[in-house]
Amino acid sequence: YAAKRRRAGKVVYTPGLSDCTPQRLGLVAEFRRGIEEGQLRLHYQPKVDLATGGAAGVEALVRWQHPREGLMPPGRFITMAEETGLIRPMGLWTLEAAIRQSRAWHDVGLDADVAVNLSVDNLHDEGLTETLRKLLETEQAQPGWLTIEVTETAMMKHPKQAKRILESLHELGVRISIDDFGTGYSSLAYLKELPVDEVKVDRSFVKDMLVDDRGACIVRTVIDLGHNLGLKVVAEGVEDLASAERLAAWGCDSVQGFVLSRPMPSPEATTWLAARETPASAACGRRHLPS
Ligand code: C2E
Ligand code: MG
Ligand code: MG
Ligand code: MG
Repeated sequence: YAAKRRRAGKVVYTPGLSDCTPQRLGLVAEFRRGIEEGQLRLHYQPKVDLATGGAAGVEALVRWQHPREGLMPPGRFITMAEETGLIRPMGLWTLEAAIRQSRAWHDVGLDADVAVNLSVDNLHDEGLTETLRKLLETEQAQPGWLTIEVTETAMMKHPKQAKRILESLHELGVRISIDDFGTGYSSLAYLKELPVDEVKVDRSFVKDMLVDDRGACIVRTVIDLGHNLGLKVVAEGVEDLASAERLAAWGCDSVQGFVLSRPMPSPEATTWLAARETPASAACGRRHLPS
């Protein structure tokens, strides 16, 4: 169907029709089986604290090790997972895997907090906080090791329910971060209403901030806004050192992006973290500056 439209000169997105192709239905069944059969993987992308140069935790990003197609990025299956409800089991798997990994890192003296991305349906699971409390207890992990990243768009759908869940997560001791900040709707209302700890300035503002005065102005304003509200500000999608230095000069708390590292499988992430932060410095709460 979509192909026909394309031939007619324009592509129109029609969820009900275009999503029922045999390929699509096959993918849904494969994904359901993939979750059950342990084909999901987490890759970890670090953040660095600009004041100290030390690791400021990692973000867990899901991948699907497809039996034939190889490692698939989330862009190829998240929307499908959201539309089919499979985002719920996926989200639970992700939370459990991320908490286990954080526990494993703390066991070897690496003070690495992990951030997990949740979609709107994960937030509308009324049992989420209780599930999370049990997971943390089972792994003997501290709630503060976990950050939940949500987008403005996710919260927009059912703001009252999202607010309730985020408040209960926050009460549990989990950190809340607004992802892709500035690209959704009502950004400021969310900052006023929700128990937010961190904002992540979207890559679209960061990527050309050195050549685009307006982008730069937005980044600086978000940094100041975040700080005035007592929040940590992270810049995402930082690809060059000059931008990282400028962000440091503007007082941004931490950066994430290809300038530091691409998302890595667990063993590489462990090596990266160990090089950034020695067990001794983590144990006494001090961090070494990068050489
Ligand atoms: P996000 O949470 O904003 O994650 C950042 C994405 O930007 C990641 O892509 C990362 O690889 C990419 N990125 C990081 N630094 C740079 C950079 O310097 N330059 C460029 N060009 N890109 C950079 P990825 O892993 O493909 O994830 C894409 C999106 O998929 C994520 O955006 C997030 O919205 C979603 N996602 C990933 N994992 C999960 C998950 O477990 N659950 C849910 N619900 N969504 C997820
Ligand atoms: Mg994210
Ligand atoms: Mg992001
Ligand atoms: Mg983003």
